[in-house]
Amino acid sequence: MSDTLPFLFALSEIDAHLSFAPGILKSLERVVAHHTFKIPRHYLDLIDFANPLCPIRGQAVPSVLEENGAGTEDPLGEKDISITPILLKRHPDRCVFLVSSECAMYCRFCNRRRFAGKAVDPEPYLEESFRHIEEDLHIREVILSGGDPFMLDAGKLQSILMRLRSMKKRLIIRLSTRVPVVYPEGLSEGHIQAIEKAAPVWIIIHINHPREITDEFLKAVRDIRRAGGIPVSQTVLLRNINDCPHVLLALFESLVEAGIKPYYLFQLDDVQGASHFKVKLDRGREIMAFLRSNASGMAVPRYALDIPGGLGKIPVDAEHLERLDSTTMVRLISPSGQIGYYNDNGEESACMKCGGCKEDG
Ligand code: SF4
Repeated sequence: MSDTLPFLFALSEIDAHLSFAPGILKSLERVVAHHTFKIPRHYLDLIDFANPLCPIRGQAVPSVLEENGAGTEDPLGEKDISITPILLKRHPDRCVFLVSSECAMYCRFCNRRRFAGKAVDPEPYLEESFRHIEEDLHIREVILSGGDPFMLDAGKLQSILMRLRSMKKRLIIRLSTRVPVVYPEGLSEGHIQAIEKAAPVWIIIHINHPREITDEFLKAVRDIRRAGGIPVSQTVLLRNINDCPHVLLALFESLVEAGIKPYYLFQLDDVQGASHFKVKLDRGREIMAFLRSNASGMAVPRYALDIPGGLGKIPVDAEHLERLDSTTMVRLISPSGQIGYYNDNGEESACMKCGGCKEDG
């Protein structure tokens, strides 16, 4: 494969950098048959190949730990709330519109791996989905997601945005993306113009580590803002990636500096193949307490958990969570009073020697 292509698709290409132990490559082939492998060269260049615990590598490079079968394929029960194969509606006033199944990178902890990278063509379902959004008078907000909407051709993205803007009701439009972080050159002038035409559009940027903040990322954010996009961030709490108060303080303060409000810190969903990324809830709460004491309120996101089975989001606090004696199960109470359960069985967090505190040797 040519070095000029912006992505790596083959494990053999990453093997050239990492030299997997004999036999590992075979296991990894099984892993990527379930959850596709793809890394943009921009993101590959951020990996510190000398560090086995590199947080960039951990998010992008498949691991044999993904063969652990714990969890479910569809932890949020999205199949049960599908109005069309690409339109999800959990709340009366909002819907999630899966306009692209393609991502720039297939994150190894992805909670929508049932769809992302599965080559689903949204085209046949677009018109039916638009009609539903138009006719359902309760829907006020549309969240464009996937996959990644910025992986669509700019003209296609523009036509989707303009179709939404042509509706009689004035919609709140959000667009969830990881492109500015992992593949910033993929955000073309055409994409920026599409945002400009449909503005205001809330751009929810998925970013997990301060090392993901590069000059190219900052330029993409400036372009988004210039077009009338409003950038906010969401972060997933991930073991051995960012489960450290100093790492997250650095991330959230840098985001605020760049004009991005940290919006959500998410507890990992129980998705199959990602249990090794799970962080204990107490560690998450400890990190949030540290942030509240050490950061300005602007840099403190909401720490939230999606109740398994699709019962909605709750804040991770004593009011919504109840520990069950002698098990790792936690009882969760949704805002509407429904009960769900989360298995708080993540392993203990360990210091990653990032240099942020005195624990480092
Ligand atoms: S960008 Fe989002 S949808 Fe795509 S693989 Fe990563 S987490 Fe999943």
